[in-house]
Amino acid sequence: MSPMAAFGDGASVLRAILFDLDDTLIPEAAAIRGALAAACGPLEELAGLPNGVLGEAVAAVGQASWQALDVTGIDARFGVTWEECLWGRFGPASQAQIPTLGALAVMLRRQVFTDALTACGVRSPLGGELEARFAMERRKRFVPYAEAPGLIQSLRDRALLVGCATNGASEVQREKLAASGTGGWFDAVTVSAEEGVGKPDPAMIVKLCEELGVSADQAIYVGNSRRRDVAASRAAGIPSVLIERFEPEDEIPNPGARGARKGVANPHEVPDRMVFEVHGILGFVDGWRAGRAFRVVDGGRTPWSIDLPEPVDGRFVTRVGADDDPLRPLVTGSSPLAAIEAGLRSLRARGNGRAFRHELGEPIDWDALLR
Ligand SMILES: [Mg+2]
Repeated sequence: MSPMAAFGDGASVLRAILFDLDDTLIPEAAAIRGALAAACGPLEELAGLPNGVLGEAVAAVGQASWQALDVTGIDARFGVTWEECLWGRFGPASQAQIPTLGALAVMLRRQVFTDALTACGVRSPLGGELEARFAMERRKRFVPYAEAPGLIQSLRDRALLVGCATNGASEVQREKLAASGTGGWFDAVTVSAEEGVGKPDPAMIVKLCEELGVSADQAIYVGNSRRRDVAASRAAGIPSVLIERFEPEDEIPNPGARGARKGVANPHEVPDRMVFEVHGILGFVDGWRAGRAFRVVDGGRTPWSIDLPEPVDGRFVTRVGADDDPLRPLVTGSSPLAAIEAGLRSLRARGNGRAFRHELGEPIDWDALLR
């Protein structure tokens, strides 16, 4: 699906915004890093280990142990991660949905914390203590991204439905939703283990649309993973927005967005739009609703837009400029995308380049365009 197709002919009515949960509305990778550091710190100090060494050992042993176990089905089918197995509670729902998961998690966490201590040369029976500390610290970090509550409120103000399709074990994802308060944000939620299969299979997104009473052309899907989120929403026929969030502490893109700038070979993983923080989707939403190909919202300034190009005498014509400007100039191109590109050049020429960095999309080579 091209970005143009994603905007359709302007006839469809946008009714619902669907979200991924982990690393989209609530931090997952950063919460794990934080919990590991907090749980391991006192033991590192006690054992005279350099700061962070034990946490790194837990991560290394955890990954290796997970790969050594036969978890292809659980990992690939449901998107349950080894980190979640270190702290999650797997009760009756998980037992019914993924029968081997509970026993597997118990085995994994016993092994991981003990082996990590051993790997650091600490001969002590503190594996159980470390396990308990990590679970406690992880549970202190069910906190949404700071901008997320305001975004949800903005979507509500626009009378949009809000849904969530999240990969993982039922009890783990439900605990995150409840403890973070995000559960109350959604009109409907689907969890991969409860549906029998997770993203990139589109089934749980299709089910979410059914529960919300919207069709695929009335929704957009927002997530942080090309492989899981973008692929699933494309398979469901729903335009996708990829969040390429930069973690302030390490200044590298989150793992789900790796390779985002290089041009991605797999066409199923190319999003219709990219944003750098979740609030950026408001520009996408407003542009869609206004029948615009592109909308730039920059702080308190008047939004700038590029209209959906229209065919005129074998070329495509669009208007570009501030929404309150009655004389927004026309630009043309040989194709709809060429017209949009011409519009972006025109915006940039007027010094508005910084703003639309927040609205990068593909497959247009924006970086080349903006150079
Ligand atoms: Mg995610």
